[in-house]
Amino acid sequence: MRLLILSDIHSNLEALEACLAVAPPHDAVANLGDVVGYGASPNEVVERVRGLGKIFVRGNHDRVCSGIGETNDFNPVAGMAALWTRKKLTPENCAWVAGLPKGPILNAEWPDTQFVHGSPLDEDGYIMTEPMAEIAMDASPCSNTFFGHTHMQGMLVVTNCRVVMSRSEMKDRTRMEQEIIQLPRGTKCLVNPGSIGQPRDGDPRAGFAIYDSSENEFTFYRVPYDVAKAQQRILRAGLPERLAFRLSEGR
Ligand code: ZN
Repeated sequence: MRLLILSDIHSNLEALEACLAVAPPHDAVANLGDVVGYGASPNEVVERVRGLGKIFVRGNHDRVCSGIGETNDFNPVAGMAALWTRKKLTPENCAWVAGLPKGPILNAEWPDTQFVHGSPLDEDGYIMTEPMAEIAMDASPCSNTFFGHTHMQGMLVVTNCRVVMSRSEMKDRTRMEQEIIQLPRGTKCLVNPGSIGQPRDGDPRAGFAIYDSSENEFTFYRVPYDVAKAQQRILRAGLPERLAFRLSEGR
């Protein structure tokens, strides 16, 4: 069975559509949160991902944008975008975002796997380093943990009793690229599919992943999209300019 894994779409419709257009056939979709916030197409993105189903986890921006969290922990730009999104979302879409479940999420069809936004220990925690990953793995009952929140595509794997981080080697930003990693079954790993709508690893291409459970194989993708169009929408909406510029930097 193949699972399409999406995370941190952040209301970026152009990036989402580009990824869905090239995603290989799959049996289900997992969405690791931050569907909205930052970008200018919250309703369009919510409606698109609602239609895809199936596994969902809420992100910190989902909470604040739907009004069940406050902007206190956000920087001023993120806070402004969240309040803009809150006004923009239709009541129905806002209620759907507010109802997204808190991770970790387990699903019987994907055994030995859990889905979180930040960390299995704290939905708002950032897993940025190997020691942080080790703590998260020790607390995790599953071999596979899919997480987002950092907007950094990559994988942390236990190798020879040590947690080792691997980041993408994909470098040709003019085209779509993919990278396949196969692990022995039962290997403990933390996998970040990357951010669709606001990558922060210096590569502006949208990121997602496919998990093939029969092979225990993880494939990372980077997909060019119409960044200029997403930027124009942000500027026209009156959202902070920084949110448009950062898309072309991938930061
Ligand atoms: Zn995010």
